[in-house]
Amino acid sequence: DYGLGEADPEVRGIIDKEKDRQFRSLELIASENFTSRAVMEAVGSCLTNKYSEGLPGKRYYGGNEHIDELEILCQERALAAFNLDGKQWGVNVQPLSGSPANFEVYTAVLNPHDRIMGLDLPHGGHLSHGFMTPKRRVSGTSIYFESMPYRLDESSGLVDYDMLEKTATLFRPKLIIAGASAYPRDFDYPRMRKIADAVGAFLMMDMAHISGLVAASVVANPFEYCDIVTTTTHKSLRGPRGGMIFFKKDPVLGVDLESAINNAVFPGLQGGPHNHTIGGLAVCLKYAKSPDFKAYQNKVVSNCRALASRLMELGYKLVSGGTDNHLVLVDLRPLGIDGARVEKILDMASITLNKNSVAGDKSALVPGGIRIGSPAMTTRGFSENEFVIVADLINEGVQITLEAKNLVSGSKLQDFMRFVTSPEFPLIGKVLDLQKRVE
Ligand code: PLP
Repeated sequence: DYGLGEADPEVRGIIDKEKDRQFRSLELIASENFTSRAVMEAVGSCLTNKYSEGLPGKRYYGGNEHIDELEILCQERALAAFNLDGKQWGVNVQPLSGSPANFEVYTAVLNPHDRIMGLDLPHGGHLSHGFMTPKRRVSGTSIYFESMPYRLDESSGLVDYDMLEKTATLFRPKLIIAGASAYPRDFDYPRMRKIADAVGAFLMMDMAHISGLVAASVVANPFEYCDIVTTTTHKSLRGPRGGMIFFKKDPVLGVDLESAINNAVFPGLQGGPHNHTIGGLAVCLKYAKSPDFKAYQNKVVSNCRALASRLMELGYKLVSGGTDNHLVLVDLRPLGIDGARVEKILDMASITLNKNSVAGDKSALVPGGIRIGSPAMTTRGFSENEFVIVADLINEGVQITLEAKNLVSGSKLQDFMRFVTSPEFPLIGKVLDLQKRVE
């Protein structure tokens, strides 16, 4: 049996290049993070070899005594990480990722073509919350269920709860979904609970982006108001790539959520659990109870605030005028440029972030904003001072993009491309200098 370097130098080489890219770049994608060596060890272990369809104590294969112990430990740690009482809340740790977890909830509590309401994708929501365009039902959620998204108030950048209430009263959804991929503020859970109760809907929170912040109690607690909470495990939580579904144990609207959700996960939509991921998740959830984790999550938020303040000092318009969590959304439209070009220029200097729609955008491919997140570089040791420099470097990239805006073709464009891809491109050196501060 050979190690990877000997057995497959080609794949080894690609992994090495990706590792180098991850450590060389300023990783500012709000949904990404660096997980720990301990989590990686569990994920790369023999746990990947085992089939264990079913739940602990009720498996369809033999030889699961250790897997049962692991999954029970992971469930207990999941409840403990979010300070949940096991008599009131249960959890399924088998979802393969965030989108499957969400679809499993829909399968559990809805019938085909039942009505749902989630935040619209161009306003910060996630595809799996029911995105559709006037021409096409894009996600499985909008294909199999009837989706009527709610949106932001474009002037404040905050969820328009009045409109949500009015629409819900008319549309009468069976499920209302809180949570987002690009929303820099907390959701108003008490208000959403009231709306859900008034129309007889389940209330679910998809806390994928902020689950680390929720575990450390640095943002509002969705468990106080929601019936179901889903999450990915690899974003602010810093775990392996996976998903979880938390559910109330008492029946809600006449539905036994525990059996409905467990059955929707398996046999409804999945087969064998990824036990190596569950192992890594258990490790991550142990860490989530440590003082170190709480300090880290506090830093994620204070770093993000420092980034936001500096960007505003530099004259940038931020959606909602700031941030209360791990991300900022910059509206570049007042500058007359788009997020796609800025993403590209920054990528050339190893500053990795993503173009993002902002409310009112016409095109998703050339959207008017960029999304910037603090979790990954906070893991790498950045503090507020470094995040102020990050804002300055992004500003430099934007200024370069502005200069290049009119270079559509010809020799000037070629000169420009040669410049930004050459080692003389000054941003590259500045990114390396910044990295050295925390090495
Ligand atoms: N939910 C939210 C709010 C997300 O932001 C994401 C991914 O970014 C997901 C769900 C989907 O997670 P996955 O990519 O693991 O399917």
